[in-house]
Amino acid sequence: MDLGELRLNTAHALVAESGHAPLPPPQDNPAAYLQALIDGLCELSLKDPLTGLHNRRYLDAVMDSEIDRVARTGEAALLLVLDIDHFKHVNDTHGHLVGDQVLQAVARAVRSCMRPMDTVARYGGEEFAIILPACQFSFGNKVAERVRQAVQGARIQIAPSQTLSVTASIGGAYAIQWIRSTAALWTDRADAQLYKAKQAGRNCLCIEEPPDSTVSADEKNLLLAPLYTSPERGESPLKSASGSAH
Ligand code: GH3
Ligand code: MG
Ligand code: MG
Repeated sequence: MDLGELRLNTAHALVAESGHAPLPPPQDNPAAYLQALIDGLCELSLKDPLTGLHNRRYLDAVMDSEIDRVARTGEAALLLVLDIDHFKHVNDTHGHLVGDQVLQAVARAVRSCMRPMDTVARYGGEEFAIILPACQFSFGNKVAERVRQAVQGARIQIAPSQTLSVTASIGGAYAIQWIRSTAALWTDRADAQLYKAKQAGRNCLCIEEPPDSTVSADEKNLLLAPLYTSPERGESPLKSASGSAH
């Protein structure tokens, strides 16, 4: 393989500057070099350059596979969407560069209080999304509150003797086994909760109540009635099919 025939300079520079593991020397093993270059480019294409978090493309892929995993395993997953409060005011008062610093600090604060298995992504301008696989209903509020406090507690050094702090509002919704969902529908539900948190005054959280999966005896009868009652004879088709002796 003659790497000299390929135009790799830009790709090499992008990957080398991205903080990705150093690329092996091209001359030693051209195929290994090319593979490392491709891996580095793939990684770059899934990251937000400002915060180093995953980007929307990665998030969408994780949400799809998480919905499948929930359906398979029955373990609910929680999606949190977080939006920095009054962020426009930060930009207007301190400038866009300080706004960028705030975004980086919030990203660090959120990442620092999540498990390695959780996905933290920058979703849009000053919005972040977190996917928590295998998250029991009773934990949702606790986790979201931990994130809210981490953001509020971050002291962001914007000048040698000046720090800044911001707050965030958080909305959350579960993907559940008995409700077949899509990434878009799941996001809509979490966004609706985020809207409620903003309406409630900001710097707070709203997590969707998981729907009650318990079924009353009457509901169970309604659900199972068609199986047990033959419409014409008022008998159970299962019973007749079993050919039970009289
Ligand atoms: P709310 O509490 O309702 O969320 O108000 P807000 O000011 O945070 O929301 P709004 O949507 O009015 O403003 C978001 C601002 O985020 C506007 C936009 O210029 C800024 N923004 C988006 N992306 C970036 C970025 O990458 N860097 C910086 N510095 N600012 C950004
Ligand atoms: Mg916003
Ligand atoms: Mg905002």
